[in-house]
Amino acid sequence: MNLANLAWRAARLYGERPAVTQGSRTVCTYGELYGRIAAIAGALRTRYGLKPGDRVVLFMHNTPEYVELLFACWHAGLIAVPVNAKLHADELAYVLGDSEASLCFVSDGRQAAAAAADPGIPLMVTGSKAYTALYESKPGALADVSETQTAWLFYTSGTTGNPKGAMLTHENLRAMVLCYFSDVDGVAPTDSILHAAPLSHGSGLYILPHVAQGACNVIPESGSFDAAEIFTLLSAHQNVSMFAAPTMVKRLVAAADDARGIENLKTLVYGGGPMYLADIQGAHAALGFRLVQIYGQGESPMTITALSKYHHRNTQHPHYTERLKSVGVAQTLVAVRIADGDDEPLAVGETGEVLVRGPSVIPGYWRNEEASREALRNGWLHTGDLGTMNGDGFVTLVDRARDLIISGGANIYPREVEEVLLRHPHVAEVAVVGGRDEEWGERVVAFVVKQADVGSDELDSFCLQHVARFKRPRDYQFVDALPKNNYGKVLKRELRERLDQGEPLTPDPSPPGRGEKK
Ligand code: AMP
Repeated sequence: MNLANLAWRAARLYGERPAVTQGSRTVCTYGELYGRIAAIAGALRTRYGLKPGDRVVLFMHNTPEYVELLFACWHAGLIAVPVNAKLHADELAYVLGDSEASLCFVSDGRQAAAAAADPGIPLMVTGSKAYTALYESKPGALADVSETQTAWLFYTSGTTGNPKGAMLTHENLRAMVLCYFSDVDGVAPTDSILHAAPLSHGSGLYILPHVAQGACNVIPESGSFDAAEIFTLLSAHQNVSMFAAPTMVKRLVAAADDARGIENLKTLVYGGGPMYLADIQGAHAALGFRLVQIYGQGESPMTITALSKYHHRNTQHPHYTERLKSVGVAQTLVAVRIADGDDEPLAVGETGEVLVRGPSVIPGYWRNEEASREALRNGWLHTGDLGTMNGDGFVTLVDRARDLIISGGANIYPREVEEVLLRHPHVAEVAVVGGRDEEWGERVVAFVVKQADVGSDELDSFCLQHVARFKRPRDYQFVDALPKNNYGKVLKRELRERLDQGEPLTPDPSPPGRGEKK
């Protein structure tokens, strides 16, 4: 089934209902949205001469046109390639070249960057006269595509190396939609989704379940995340859901004194990076029990595990805190396994790589057979995340495999140390990485953003109270901000590089783990 069918169906079932608003201004109803989709699809095929399977890059901020363009691509049998609007021209150039795109839609304000990428293909500025003229084109026929055809080329956020294009098929995205309904939230035509997080990533993927049910897509006028604007929009819409990375949730919590309209926030879905226990508890206190967590990755979009609203608010459960620290249980349509190096399942509580299989898992990366074989060997997607599973199936992520610190032969999971440091009231943000150490291989280094004045001695005593001695940081670096990618993920690789470049390789006088057992 072509995903564009979802929009066709919504136009028939909910034709008069608002499909897209910008702020609180209705841009189009579902009837009008489908009209635009079919017309743009017609223009893409006839005026631009695109053929099924051709790639169309969307280098756009969050604008109302995002919704119609995604569906227009699918309607015409094309592959949409959403690219984060904050990317540098060189990064855009990489995606344009790797995907061999035939056309690029650019939102106002990014023309210069798009031109600097020297794409050698037509650029169309959304909202321009030429763009709105597309609405007058002769509607194209809905393309007949197979389930296994790529719908969305999802360039993984690339915390290491060049990004790879995860090929999300029509079937993958349909599975994601069904898992949204079964594991994240039900959706009704009277609901809304507020797209404050980038549409090129999770928020854009969540357009799909909302279009499927005729709910309204609310695009903030700022085109991005602004806590005050979000609270204003909450006052103007009903039953609002939104997807937010953990840093955005923290910013919402910080602005929650101004929590106008909070009663209209139905569901706050968070994920995409670790959310620490203290932050979840802070969000409950400020925003109420409205949270759902998802764990996914570009290769199984938004669909590996989920921690439901029920589990967030089930405070009386004997394992409540342990569950809150987890990413929840496997979503309905996928199987999750914690595996050893041979991909064999490990016992309850043992740490290994998280593997996933099911209809949301990509068939491979775009024109990269080697990476595809490696990621999908033995019929499982290898997430590169390390985790454990308890007897009830709750998965707790300990770290990315490559972030694990091995000091004096002992495994140290940075996440565990970060959780402890974040409990200190003067610590705002923290990232723990391994620095090279001649004697111990690696030593634990904490990069700390302060909330209020605090020194390394105090943090050291604090760690000693809460974590095994050998795990505590031997070095604190106080910084104004942590380096993050465009989706808010901390770039640990960059922190490690800083250490490699700037630090002498002298062994610590009182090295970690001396005389201590793991
Ligand atoms: P991306 O492909 O850019 O969406 O990044 C996926 C990666 O983000 C995963 O492999 C995890 O390392 C991390 N991630 C996603 N969701 C969560 C979550 N709920 N908790 C912790 N890490 C997460």
